[in-house]
Amino acid sequence: MIQFDPHQKVYVCTHVFDGSQPVTLVSRPDGDWCFLCGSEHEDDASSYRVVGIGHLFDTDPTIQDLSDLEPNWEAERQRPGQTWLRTRCEPNN
Ligand SMILES: [Zn+2]
Repeated sequence: MIQFDPHQKVYVCTHVFDGSQPVTLVSRPDGDWCFLCGSEHEDDASSYRVVGIGHLFDTDPTIQDLSDLEPNWEAERQRPGQTWLRTRCEPNN
């Protein structure tokens, strides 16, 4: 079973970073990891923060279910506790 390295650096939106919103959208553009609240964000570095993924497990252990999510796929859920729904994304280029 694939497991996350808790020191893996990932992107979170500022809402997830400050704990005001749960993670409901996980995407892997170009193989990076993005953990987002699902709202619209400015396409700007100031809307995102970089954290160690281990910090996200503390608030939401179900994120570890996504350790095998492949690049250019995303996973979505309505709210915490619901099943992650995976979809393949077409690369932008
Ligand atoms: Zn957000």
